[in-house]
Amino acid sequence: MKRRDFISGIAGATAVTAISACGKNEPQLSTTITNTATVNWKMVTTWPKNFPGLGTGANRVAQLINEMSGGRIKVKVYGAGELVGAFEVFDTVSRGSAQLGHAGAYYWKGKIPASVFFSSVPFGLTATEMNSWLYNGGGLKLWEEAYKPFGLIPNPAGNTGTQMGGWFNKEINSLSDLKGLKMRIPGLGGEVLKKAGALPISLPGGEIFPSLQSGALDATEWVGPYNDLAFGLYKVAKYYYTPGWHEPGSTMECMINEKAFNKLPKDLQSIVRNAMKVANLEMLSEYTARNQQALQTLIEKHKVQLKHFPDKVLTELKKISAEVINDEAKKDQLSTKVWASQKEFIEQVAKWTNISETAFIKARSL
Ligand code: CA
Repeated sequence: MKRRDFISGIAGATAVTAISACGKNEPQLSTTITNTATVNWKMVTTWPKNFPGLGTGANRVAQLINEMSGGRIKVKVYGAGELVGAFEVFDTVSRGSAQLGHAGAYYWKGKIPASVFFSSVPFGLTATEMNSWLYNGGGLKLWEEAYKPFGLIPNPAGNTGTQMGGWFNKEINSLSDLKGLKMRIPGLGGEVLKKAGALPISLPGGEIFPSLQSGALDATEWVGPYNDLAFGLYKVAKYYYTPGWHEPGSTMECMINEKAFNKLPKDLQSIVRNAMKVANLEMLSEYTARNQQALQTLIEKHKVQLKHFPDKVLTELKKISAEVINDEAKKDQLSTKVWASQKEFIEQVAKWTNISETAFIKARSL
């Protein structure tokens, strides 16, 4: 019997075992899932279950994989705390207890210093520019290199667009107003605030509201109006600052356990990867569509005061950001390499953005 006939004649895992037993020169077949088997995967996330944009974005990745594979892969999504805690997502997928993890890369900076460059960099790339760097500027290859030692394959799987600067109960008129402020702000933004004299804290989303309410936090950033309204942050802080200098276009990730991925046939691998690409686009579209509506509700219904950070504060934060990023880039060889790539890309792409999009947006608002 020819091998091809043999495969088509027997469905499921039994066929795989039989092939591996009779064909010693084809060892890769012994670990490949056949086209007819159903693969059940778990996705753990750092977001509250079904949380607008982020949690639903994770759900969307799962739904797309289920649909595009015609049910050959079934993904079950777990919110933060359901299977594991928000900050245990990385280790859980790394050891293979779940096959997928939806999160933000900067949450893992304690394990991989370079991970901060794959979320969002203060005064760095916008969402469009970030996607360009990842897909067309070598960024994703570097990200894969960073996660490889942990048996993980990273993927961009969502973007919030430019975030808001955060919620405060006092006005920020100068840098000194940030001194001693206990603020929830993760990633590089947090490092910048630390250098500016604040006390940055990294907390999962679900813990922000009670921490502000109890006074454990003085201020927080989260995402933008769409998400911040859903958390009710307006109930515990009155000033809402723009712009989100610290997260100009935050990429969300969906990491895949490499061993589980390698067991899939090529078409399913492509489906998994491309489902994440679709989800990456959809999340950005959703945020762009919903943020202004939510902002209007915050201002008109909940009487939130929208404030702009003064230019002087932003100029100083930008200067500190450059110092912090340079220090971060020296943490290890990979960080140096990743930042060199992103820095070069920013310098190039910013010139084009200024000539094209920035010039147009200026014209539109004349
Ligand atoms: Ca944020």
